Amino acid sequence: MIDLVIRGGTVIDGSGAPRRVADVAVLAGRISAVGAVGGRGGREVDASGLCVCPGFIDLHTHYDAQYTWDPYATSSIWHGVTTTVIGNCGFAIAPCRPQDREVTLRTLVKVEGMSLKAMQAGITWEFETFPAYLDALERRNPSLNVAALLGHSAVRQWVMGRAAQQRGRPATRSRRWRASFGRPWRPAPSGSDPRPPRRMWETAGCPCRAAWPTSTSSRR
Ligand SMILES: [Zn+2]
Repeated sequence: MIDLVIRGGTVIDGSGAPRRVADVAVLAGRISAVGAVGGRGGREVDASGLCVCPGFIDLHTHYDAQYTWDPYATSSIWHGVTTTVIGNCGFAIAPCRPQDREVTLRTLVKVEGMSLKAMQAGITWEFETFPAYLDALERRNPSLNVAALLGHSAVRQWVMGRAAQQRGRPATRSRRWRASFGRPWRPAPSGSDPRPPRRMWETAGCPCRAAWPTSTSSRR
């Protein structure tokens, strides 16, 4: 017996094929038939007047904080998103030492318009490193697939501390820098203002961490 039949929806399968009205049968967690499905499923869903399509992949989200208290990523899941990428724009909440939590959250308040109160109330800081953060997400068993980018801001703060808001990468080579994280902003030509554009500044009057280039000689 089929586990689930989604009846009479307008199927848009993502292949580029024209939409069509069809039933979708699901057996053991996989689609087993699309078309006119006879018999009754263990569960039946009437989708007439609705679209039936694959889950959407949202490549650009900032659920890094919200996932720690909302494993459903509300309201993305309401809109059919089934995969989210977090850590975009260089902003993330891990890695993060306890003394850096405040500046990390204030960055998200400024550049992503998040509520400081909501984050302070919602985040359980049970991680400092990036792997520990991923483990914490795993324990929450998110309803959506999560792909996490390593946020440039978080890494700069982790490596440089307060200096992360005050300058680019140190001229001296540090063993703590092992990877290139790209750069969101091209340094100004010599002689002009080398600071990041004003929109990338935080409320405290410092450029936000990801606004600085990794180094003036970094490759694009
Ligand atoms: Zn973004």
